[in-house]
Amino acid sequence: MAEHDQGFVLTTVDSITNFVRQKMVAPMIDSKPVQFGVNWARKSAIWPMTFGLACCAIEMMATGAGRFDIDRFGAGVFRPSPRQSDLVIIAGTVTLKMGPVVRRVYDQMPEPKWVIAMGACASTGGPFDSYSTMQGVDRTIPVDVYIPGCPPRPEALLYGLMRLQDIIMREAPSAYIFESDGTVHRQRTFDIDDQPQIAAAAENKSEAAA
Ligand code: SF4
Repeated sequence: MAEHDQGFVLTTVDSITNFVRQKMVAPMIDSKPVQFGVNWARKSAIWPMTFGLACCAIEMMATGAGRFDIDRFGAGVFRPSPRQSDLVIIAGTVTLKMGPVVRRVYDQMPEPKWVIAMGACASTGGPFDSYSTMQGVDRTIPVDVYIPGCPPRPEALLYGLMRLQDIIMREAPSAYIFESDGTVHRQRTFDIDDQPQIAAAAENKSEAAA
């Protein structure tokens, strides 16, 4: 029996299943025609989360309305739960207090999942170079596409969405199953311990709740 890197023990059946997935299933789903089909299906049916933080969210809502019609790109089904979403558009200012909440919401989304940082605040903190504002949401979750502007117009969000679709078309589907060293992939990791501001904010919040 082998031990998984996250601490739990793999049974012999797990090891055999992983061997088959790694040696037979992964090369098959990474072959060009299957990869194209899987990626095309994923990029054509993105389900964004209903999640807005500040003024940029108004532009995001406008993008979903009839004039701009994000449904043309297959991304109009805004879901009310992170468990049903594969895209989160960070639309607005992220404060240090909100950082751990954004992280928790992101962690609840199933793989594969993607992130768009919409606007100056989500990308860099924007005009708020202050004690309370996170200087870019990429300090707490990994970001795939950044959209500049304060706020970006709906066309900019649609352009960012198309660039995300380009990224999705270049992905290897097995990347969501296996790490490069062959171990089973559970979720994308992002070391929050390297983020002293976020860790401190989370600590203060739990102390306040106690
Ligand atoms: S980038 Fe501008 S419009 Fe968007 S949330 Fe920040 S201040 Fe508001």
